[in-house]
Amino acid sequence: MRIVILGAGESGVGSAILAQKKGFDVFVSDNGIIKEKYKEVLNKYTIEWEENGHTVSKIENADEVIKSPGIPDKVEIIKLLKNKNIPVISEIEFAGRYTNAKKICISGSNGKTTTTSIIYEMFKNAGLNVGLGGNIGKSFAWQVAEKQYDYYVLELSSFQLDGMYQFKADVAILMNITPDHLDRYQYNFQNYIDSKMRIIQNMDKNGVFIYWNEDPIIQEEIKKRDLKSKNSPLLLPFSDESSFEIGAFLENENIVIKYLNTEFSMLKNDLALKGRHNTYNSMAAAATGLADGISKQIIRESMTRFAGVPHRLEEVLKIKEVLYINDSKSTNVNSAWYALESMKTPVIWIAGGVDKGNDYSMLHALVQEKVKLLICMGVDNTKLNQEFKDMTEIVNVRSMEKALEAAYYYAEKGDTVLLSPACASFDLFENYEDRGDKFKQGVRNL
Ligand code: ADP
Repeated sequence: MRIVILGAGESGVGSAILAQKKGFDVFVSDNGIIKEKYKEVLNKYTIEWEENGHTVSKIENADEVIKSPGIPDKVEIIKLLKNKNIPVISEIEFAGRYTNAKKICISGSNGKTTTTSIIYEMFKNAGLNVGLGGNIGKSFAWQVAEKQYDYYVLELSSFQLDGMYQFKADVAILMNITPDHLDRYQYNFQNYIDSKMRIIQNMDKNGVFIYWNEDPIIQEEIKKRDLKSKNSPLLLPFSDESSFEIGAFLENENIVIKYLNTEFSMLKNDLALKGRHNTYNSMAAAATGLADGISKQIIRESMTRFAGVPHRLEEVLKIKEVLYINDSKSTNVNSAWYALESMKTPVIWIAGGVDKGNDYSMLHALVQEKVKLLICMGVDNTKLNQEFKDMTEIVNVRSMEKALEAAYYYAEKGDTVLLSPACASFDLFENYEDRGDKFKQGVRNL
């Protein structure tokens, strides 16, 4: 059996190692330049590889192809493979075949990394033998090749889910579904929704499906599926508006979770992560802990102590009584909505970058209410200017340095300077981490 791996990043190299260990004939092909550290690993394992292009004759003879989630379906080599009916799968599908560990899978348009990280910390705090993978940290396949974990906490992006067919999650957590990445889904929201819903495919009565009850899209998708049959996973919704026989909800100032014969509660105020969206993330994580038999004390401690994830509403510094917050990971409109919604002071809002087909209308009311200055930071700021010119003052800049200069100049005691771009970062930065790091560094230099 020949396995070809397209894309030699963390997931591709991990897949190559696992495939080789399982005795396949393995070939790795990358259209770009492979990072030095990954070349060394491939050489160490004597895995054949190429970079800077794909040699079709070495790829079309594959029995199966594992594709990096970054490669869109529209590229020539994928079209060719699909025409030849060669199965193209994701790293997660492949590695899932070789582990009996319990798989806790998290997806959604926003909140994945935060929720995944809380759950992983909680499982570690409980002393469980747990690995972290998927869209975060180290490759799942690599860990399956080299470790013996009892549990995996996996963050799954829609691109990973697209290449998953037989994989079965034991616990599936779906935070929300709002438009994102439409450029990869023929600008058809339903295609993206279908991709997200793959997280529950193949689940049976032994599984648990945790989801945000108030999401109209998820509700509609649940109705379309027969999730009330005997073999369906247990449904465990979370909400701050409804209450449930089985589920997570708010009662007075407490988070309450009811799961079969157990009930958990803790003060919402004791949660380490603030903001309404983080209440959802914490509820989903706590519900997962309860469903996996983690003690209430450990769940409570984990929720209280969680230190947060960088670039997600990360408080950087207070300078002259102005708070600077780095929410660089806010790369779509919905996450910027939650950031603005959680602001309690007048806001100087730094936004902009690469627009992924954004519809900003849901932000109008919040901008009018809270934003005293919008600093548009991007190569092309036209759309943001047109959208908000009648609602707030606007300054246009093309660098983080200039953005922070403007923010520092305009900010008054009690204001918050919020970097929550609602856009991708690739016009001015390498990625969202680079953007957030430059923000933090710049703030420290003010
Ligand atoms: P993801 O991994 O899905 O991108 P993150 O946890 O990294 O999610 O958070 C990304 C952005 O979305 C951050 O700006 C964060 O403040 C915001 N966010 C986090 N959780 C939620 C949620 N449950 N709903 C909406 N926005 C959220």
